[in-house]
Amino acid sequence: MVIAYEVGNGLYVNITNRCTNSCSFCVRSVADGTYGELWLEREPTVDEIVDSVVRADPTRYSEMVFCGYGEPTVRFYDVIEASIRIKQSYPDVKIRINTNGHANLIYGKDVTPLMRGVIDTVSISLNTANARDYVKVCAPEFGLEAYEGLLDFASKAKEHVPAVLFSVVRESIPDEDIEICRGIAERCGVVLKVRDMIK
Ligand code: SF4
Repeated sequence: MVIAYEVGNGLYVNITNRCTNSCSFCVRSVADGTYGELWLEREPTVDEIVDSVVRADPTRYSEMVFCGYGEPTVRFYDVIEASIRIKQSYPDVKIRINTNGHANLIYGKDVTPLMRGVIDTVSISLNTANARDYVKVCAPEFGLEAYEGLLDFASKAKEHVPAVLFSVVRESIPDEDIEICRGIAERCGVVLKVRDMIK
C-alpha cells in the first residue's frame, strides 16, 4: 500500500480513495493503470500515515503534501492529527493540503481553525469560474452549493493558514474564465495558481 511517495521535491501522502467530487479529468478515472498503485485497498490509520512519513524522512523534502488519489479532507481530523504528530517531531517540515475545499460542507461546520499552526499551505482546486460549470465538470455531491462552499472555505482558511491558493488547469478553462477566477481569488484574499495539466 503506497501511503507516502515522492513527487519532485515533495513528499506526497495518500490517505483515501474517497472524494465528494467526480471530476471528468480525475486521475481515478484513468483506466490504463497509470496511477493504479495509488489505489488503497483500505484507508491507512493515523499511526500508519505517520510511520510512512517518518520512514521517508520528511526533512529531505521541501514540503509534505496531503494529496492522494482521493480527497484528503474526507479525513480532515486524521489529517490534522497526523500533521500535529509530524510537526512535533519535525517542526521545520512544511505541510500542505491539496483539496477540493469541501471540508466545511462535509462536516457541516467551520473546521478551518484546526489548521492554525499545523498546516502551512492549502491549495484548493477552483477548476471553473462559476457554480454551474463546476457542477458540470466536477459533479459534486453538494450540487450547486459546492462552489460557494469552497469559496467560503478559502476565505475562512485564510484566517488561519499562511498560504491559501486556488488552482485552475490552463488547458481546461477558457482564458476569459481564468481572468474571472483571478477576480474571485482576489475577493477571497487568496492567490490564483494557473497550472499545466498533469500528463
Ligand atoms: S476533486 Fe480531485 S480526487 Fe476528487 S474527483 Fe476531482 S480530481 Fe478526483
